[in-house]
Amino acid sequence: MPKPLHILIVEDSEDDAFLLLRELRKGGYEVTSERVETAEAMKAALGKGGWDIVISDYVLPVFGGLAALSILKESGQDLPFIIVSGNIGEDIAVGAMKAGAHDYIIKGNLTRLAPAVERELREAEVRREKRQAEEALRRSHEELERKVEERTAELVRSNKELEQFAYIASHDLQEPLRMITSYLDLLDKRYRGKLEKDAGEFIDYAAGGAAHMKTLLNDLLVYSRVGTKGKPFELTDLNISLKSAISNLKKRVEESGAQITCGNLPGIYADETQMVQLFQNLIGNAIKFRNSDAPRVTVSSELKGNEWTIRVSDNGIGIDPKFFDKIFQIFQRLHTKGQYPGTGIGLSICKKIVERHGGRIWVESEPGKGSTFCFTLRVK
Ligand code: ADP
Repeated sequence: MPKPLHILIVEDSEDDAFLLLRELRKGGYEVTSERVETAEAMKAALGKGGWDIVISDYVLPVFGGLAALSILKESGQDLPFIIVSGNIGEDIAVGAMKAGAHDYIIKGNLTRLAPAVERELREAEVRREKRQAEEALRRSHEELERKVEERTAELVRSNKELEQFAYIASHDLQEPLRMITSYLDLLDKRYRGKLEKDAGEFIDYAAGGAAHMKTLLNDLLVYSRVGTKGKPFELTDLNISLKSAISNLKKRVEESGAQITCGNLPGIYADETQMVQLFQNLIGNAIKFRNSDAPRVTVSSELKGNEWTIRVSDNGIGIDPKFFDKIFQIFQRLHTKGQYPGTGIGLSICKKIVERHGGRIWVESEPGKGSTFCFTLRVK
């Protein structure tokens, strides 16, 4: 079956063009063609489109092979360009190939033409497929970037909303809560012992609930203020932040007999108060979620590229990997208040602080084998 081939021939000699076409027909092509011999005619022909290949003489009376090659390039069409010419010498031929011609054939050796055309058509096909794949990749990359941008904007908006909600809720709920607590106090003072026996117990439950709610609201307020009430970053010695955190936890450290080992930590640009809060939450948890052994907590740092990784490791109860993401979400806890006290806000505050400083936070752990909370902070 002859293969159809639509050729643009840049050639002043009709006879040479005829020989060329005959050679290609012999090679199994069903050829259609147009012959041009000026730049204008070539541009006009290219404009019509539909070409499979361009075959050009090297020296024409008013035109040349290299000029023809530039016209083809300018047209943006990636067609095979083969020079068929009288003997032009090796240097010129090499120069033409360097300029982008795909092959060079001497008019006296036209038997090479059909195989060369076949090879160049195949290669052009490969180039086209590669371009298509690259284009598809670029499009899917753009699509991905657009989606990431959309999601980020959505996340920023929903974080802002959550922050605002947390602030309003924690702030506005404090007043009615104070009212509940005061009247419970009053009930307790005036009527304890005077009512039925159960009544004292009920008052205690209600007061316990109100106290927990107070802690919840306070934590929620702290959470909502990480972004809005944060201070500007200043050069902060993390060794000092860590010391302050441990000193704030003094009572719990002493009661639990916790041993805290601190490696040398870096100085970085950060919100000092938030760094104290971060260490305090992580070390507080390391002490709280202990097993029967006395807590052993180690704080260390490692520099990789332009970021520090800080690690807080403990020998506590550990965490099942399926909860690694959940625990950083607000109000998410893995235990009842009876097992371990808490509000489930501590780690979400840590996450917000670390992210405000451009870092990431995660946990590495196995149930029963202790946990290591890691976070990164930028060097600058
Ligand atoms: P809270 O401590 O008030 O429960 P957090 O947000 O600080 O809230 O922690 C969320 C949950 O993550 C905890 O309830 C606990 O299940 C788990 N967790 C946090 N730190 C540790 C730790 N060091 N060891 C084991 N579990 C931990």
